[in-house]
Amino acid sequence: VKLATFHRNGEIKIGAVLGRSLIDLSGVAPDMMTLIELGASGFTQAESAVKSAQSAFSLEEVELLAPIPNIRRNVMCVGLNYAEHTAEHYKAMGRESKLPEFPVIFNKATTSVNSPYGDILLDRNVTEELDWEVELAVIIGRTGKNILEHQAMKYVFGYCVLNDISARDLQRNHKQFFKGKSLDGSCPMGPWIVATDEMPSLKGLTITSRVNGVTKQKSTTDHMIFDVPALIYHLSRGMTLLPGDIIATGTPGGVGFARTPPEFLSPGDVVECEIEGIGLLRNAIVDASV
Ligand code: MG
Repeated sequence: VKLATFHRNGEIKIGAVLGRSLIDLSGVAPDMMTLIELGASGFTQAESAVKSAQSAFSLEEVELLAPIPNIRRNVMCVGLNYAEHTAEHYKAMGRESKLPEFPVIFNKATTSVNSPYGDILLDRNVTEELDWEVELAVIIGRTGKNILEHQAMKYVFGYCVLNDISARDLQRNHKQFFKGKSLDGSCPMGPWIVATDEMPSLKGLTITSRVNGVTKQKSTTDHMIFDVPALIYHLSRGMTLLPGDIIATGTPGGVGFARTPPEFLSPGDVVECEIEGIGLLRNAIVDASV
């Protein structure tokens, strides 16, 4: 099942997406976090609500929000998780490339969450180097610690597309990634969660980003250095993962700062991120210089 959070007639609800229509699931749970915490019973109730639904409305009638609009803690992010991106990263920095021995882990602030089609506000006084990063995001479904790789998929609730928008100058100036990755609106997510029942395998999913219709990144999820079970293993070692936690699994090659010459987002640009079998994010860059 595909699960969305949407805004309609002044109310925020959750629903199941079937093609271009949406079935209200507010009878099952008031919001996505509550549904995730219901566990297996939430799935069963959502399925029966879909089967017995008397009516549906069109996706065009609603505004889709990030699947979990108010995340409880920071998005956990993995850097340098595709070999091509690792190579371009070191090349742009004039350093010798080497593959990471352990996942590179950083995070994005809760306040960076944006809608799948929301505007990304760009304040030129804050950053001149806004960049794109299409990523597969994993949504954790249940509490776990020291999770072994062969058990890891049992802890996954579902997947969505995430754009890890990055202010490269801030990343550089402040040494740690946190600030440059956490500007307001710099984490578009969605357009919905594809639950694991609908996506049993992550093998060979095409992952793409485009700016103004021009393809910038194109790879497949097979090219991850650390796959999803390995990432869950590493993150959960000695650290409890919670329902609703989001793991951004890294971006393929083709980001802006590593291009010759470097490219960054400007007001008026439209950035699209798409993963086969999940969906598409489309966000416009809007000038908000103060
Ligand atoms: Mg990233």
